[in-house]
Amino acid sequence: MLGEFDLEIPDSIEEALELLAADDAPAPLAGGTNMLVDMRAGGTRPERVVSLARLEGVRWIAERDGRIAVGGGTTVSDLLQDERIAEHGASLVGAARVFAGQMVRNTATVAGNVAYGSPAADLVPPLMALDAGVTLMSKSASRTVPLADYFTGYRQTVRKPDELIAEISWPKRGAGMADLFYKLARRKGDAITVTGVAVSLALAGGKCAGVRIALGAVAPVVMRARKAEAMLDGQAPDAALIEAAARQAAQECDPIDDVRASAEYRRHTVHMLVRRLVGQAVEHLR
Ligand SMILES: Cc1cc2nc3c(=O)[nH]c(=O)nc-3n(C[C@H](O)[C@H](O)[C@H](O)COP(=O)(O)OP(=O)(O)OC[C@H]3O[C@@H](n4cnc5c(N)ncnc54)[C@H](O)[C@@H]3O)c2cc1C
Repeated sequence: MLGEFDLEIPDSIEEALELLAADDAPAPLAGGTNMLVDMRAGGTRPERVVSLARLEGVRWIAERDGRIAVGGGTTVSDLLQDERIAEHGASLVGAARVFAGQMVRNTATVAGNVAYGSPAADLVPPLMALDAGVTLMSKSASRTVPLADYFTGYRQTVRKPDELIAEISWPKRGAGMADLFYKLARRKGDAITVTGVAVSLALAGGKCAGVRIALGAVAPVVMRARKAEAMLDGQAPDAALIEAAARQAAQECDPIDDVRASAEYRRHTVHMLVRRLVGQAVEHLR
């Protein structure tokens, strides 16, 4: 049962932001693949909902100012069909390929995946490893927050009730860069992630540069393994260093036991997957 709520369906983003500026701001509803499921289960009971379904100009992909940008209403299927995403976000394409099934991909939006704040959201680790920023827009202002600073706790984010995620963008891939993602789950499709790892790095003169390692489903929020990154940055990555950095990443995460896996198994898989993905990125670049 969905329960009763007031539904507003604006046609323009300005109209939506005007509605969100009210004291009792409505909850934004995009594809509904998280929110309607939660509402049916009674997990969330908003009294007012603003549908973003009819908004013009929220579903787009662009290349500008050295960055790739996607509008909040861009769907997971859209990501899979765009050459610019393929060129400048291979890890994001990797995540989109193992995201749910086709019907959900056609509806699920990038903004919804980020805004929901789940530590198991599959688009978030690759976007974080790509150094993405989230542009939040309200009636009166717009601000861009690094995705790495967007989550403040389990399903808690810096978004204020009057703001919408308007855009998510990241720097275009430079020469000598590689980015990879791996989702470990009990099945390939339609399964919640047990451990998600994304790695982005460059090799310059045989040494690692700009290393970012993002870990999903192994802490209350998707997180960067910053100590592991620092071990690799500026160093020539041999097998011993990659192994040590992977072990460090496993120490940095903070997994829980749940129905899908034990904390110990999750930590072990962080170790294995970071070692594998960093090794593959280095091999690819050499
Ligand atoms: C069968 C099934 C399989 C799934 N498989 C996966 C999977 O493999 N990987 C995965 O990561 N997820 C999966 N999901 C979860 C879900 O599909 C994704 O998280 C999806 O990206 C949510 O997007 P949405 O547009 O449906 O968001 P909604 O459900 O509409 O909204 C989710 C949250 O985001 C907020 N929101 C939406 N748009 C905005 C905006 N522009 N600005 C601010 N807040 C906004 C809403 O208020 C709500 O809190 C699955 C869900 C189902 C039902």
